Amino acid sequence: MSIHISNTSKMPKGCGSWSLQAIDTCPGSFDSIKRELVDACKGCYARFGNYNYPNVKKPRASNREDWKRSGWADDMVAAMEKSELFRWFDSGDCYSVALAIKILEVIKRTPHVQHWFPTRMHKFPKFRDVLATINRQKNAVVRRSSDSITGEIDGRWSNGSTIIPTVDHAKPGHTVCHAYDRQGKCGECRQCWDKKVKTIAYPAHGRSMIKLVNLAA
Ligand code: SF4
Repeated sequence: MSIHISNTSKMPKGCGSWSLQAIDTCPGSFDSIKRELVDACKGCYARFGNYNYPNVKKPRASNREDWKRSGWADDMVAAMEKSELFRWFDSGDCYSVALAIKILEVIKRTPHVQHWFPTRMHKFPKFRDVLATINRQKNAVVRRSSDSITGEIDGRWSNGSTIIPTVDHAKPGHTVCHAYDRQGKCGECRQCWDKKVKTIAYPAHGRSMIKLVNLAA
């Protein structure tokens, strides 16, 4: 087995991502009381379109097994030798504490790389220690994802993100993502990697999410 690093067109040049299959590895996407996906995950881009193609699903399925082998962290560190930025989980989530511990090792061994770690695993108490330790690393930010599609967020989070219907729905304290003013690209923006930026608000994009926010309006 070998690692599969993806490069999405949105991210800055040279920024890789290590991803898993959406929903299958996202226990935080499900509201066990309502017995349905949380709003933010109902319209998630990684459930639709290209993400269902076999050539996209296959490397994610491979990554799900691959991280368990002993040389995985060494290979990840080697793959990041020339990187400055890394985004964990373009799709999927860190469903295992053992995986989070391995990611922490990779982050510690790559001080030249800024790591952005978005997640919903903060909902589960057993992840809290390891997520807090990752977020204490100078070169990493754990960005807790809100379930909301109307900009709600837990104000206690040091760093988080939420979805808003449009730019005009940004609330005080939100830092808006303007990728969609740049043909869906980050360009020079590095806000998601910046610990000083408390809450990123992503205006809804993609057909499914826009339909969802319109229904909620
Ligand atoms: S806030 Fe900036 S870094 Fe984050 S996704 Fe949007 S453009 Fe990219």
